[in-house]
Amino acid sequence: MSSEKTAIQREARGDASLERKLTRGEIWRRFALLLSTDILIIAMFLCALIIHSEITVKNAANLEGIGVIPTISDSRPNGFTLPGQVSSRLIGEPEGIVRNLYFGEPFWGDGGVILHPFLANLRSLTYLIASPVNGEYYIATFGFASAITLFQHTFAVLLVLQAIGLITEAFEIRKSIRRTLRPIYELTLAAQTVHRNTAPQVPLKPHKLQLSGAIDTLNTIDENELSRRIVISDEREELKGLAFAINSMLDRLDAAYSSQLRFVSDASHELRTPIAVIQGYANMLDRWGKNDTDTLQESIDAIKYEAAGMQDLVEQLLFLARSDNRSIALNIETVNLTALADEVFRETRMIDSGHEYHARLTDGLSVRGDMQLLKQAVRIFMDNAIKYTPSGGMITISTLDEDGHAKISVTDNGLGIPPDDLEKIFERFFRSDESRTRETGGTGLGLSIAKWIIDRHGGFVEVTSRVDIGTKITAALPKFSE
Ligand code: ADP
Repeated sequence: MSSEKTAIQREARGDASLERKLTRGEIWRRFALLLSTDILIIAMFLCALIIHSEITVKNAANLEGIGVIPTISDSRPNGFTLPGQVSSRLIGEPEGIVRNLYFGEPFWGDGGVILHPFLANLRSLTYLIASPVNGEYYIATFGFASAITLFQHTFAVLLVLQAIGLITEAFEIRKSIRRTLRPIYELTLAAQTVHRNTAPQVPLKPHKLQLSGAIDTLNTIDENELSRRIVISDEREELKGLAFAINSMLDRLDAAYSSQLRFVSDASHELRTPIAVIQGYANMLDRWGKNDTDTLQESIDAIKYEAAGMQDLVEQLLFLARSDNRSIALNIETVNLTALADEVFRETRMIDSGHEYHARLTDGLSVRGDMQLLKQAVRIFMDNAIKYTPSGGMITISTLDEDGHAKISVTDNGLGIPPDDLEKIFERFFRSDESRTRETGGTGLGLSIAKWIIDRHGGFVEVTSRVDIGTKITAALPKFSE
């Protein structure tokens, strides 16, 4: 993992910055284009000369007639012979004709103009057409000196113009690449400020658009600066999209991280009280209770009660941790919701004799889901009804087929929930009345677990409640009919 990371960093640092690499690549591309154009111009010029020579020969009745004095030779002339395929396509093709290009005596120019030996040699380029006649060759030669001289001057001007063009273009290319990369630079800079120390460790100058900075910085983003966001002021839509994606990822990370922190701190807080109670009783026993049976019994009861509470809390915490981890697998089957409600109704009535129980069940209501988890959710509703309904109160469990949903409700005529608290009761560790719920031993986690279960089944939870009148909690699940 770390070697992979260093490899990426090494690659990103590279010798040249991205801007320089792109500029160099683009200039090379344009240079290659100019070079191939020039080669094409030279080739076309040479072809034109050869064709001109060929036409001249064809138009002449004999070689002397066109002012070309043919020499007669008995040996095949020297020079670079044009390939047969080219030669056969040229005008006036008698059998056995030979066409050669060669450099003759260096041509030093008219009027004593001294030339560079390379140019003198170039201007001596000669085209030769040799016709075999009776075992001998009639040879006509065409010197291209004056045409080449003219071409040389024109070509030199062309080269200078091309060079000037390329240099100006190079600046333009660099400017435009820098403009294109600016948003990346801004991303880099912004990403660097997300770093723990806020200021970039190695400040980037605007003309050094090094992606390595961005990668290094993104590697070092840490949890302490998750609230920072990348600002893109430029007009590049694609990069705005990237910045937006990174920002929303940071939003999600930030939210998840804050909720984790809150969760851990709330959990520790919840565990603190029972631990303190247990410690208190242990100290009391230590000092006075060893021989006092009443104190001993009271301490044992209290310790047992707090330990049971802690066990509940730890189980709920584990459930939520696993749900956050997405490691709770649902064992999906067809669940008869009516039967499930009836089962919870019967078992609750058996355990609790302090309330009056009723069941209003619609027959044959089914859903697809995890039987155990759904039962756990309904039990949470039931437990709350018991906890928050004074003894003698009435608790009703009902099922209903409504709007394509299979609904299961628990209604009580207990304490009710204040309107301001209604939307918060599904938050972890929320209790609408601290002192009241402390007595009941609630953890504030039950409803968030139930909501998670119902959500995972594609359903939703509804609550209606009035203080001192009662509460109705309903889980609505997608109805299943075979
Ligand atoms: P707890 O373990 O405290 O019951 P829950 O998450 O199950 O945690 O419930 C959150 C809060 O919602 C409770 O503390 C309680 O104030 C309120 N509440 C839930 N159900 C009822 C109910 N049936 N009647 C009155 N208040 C309720």
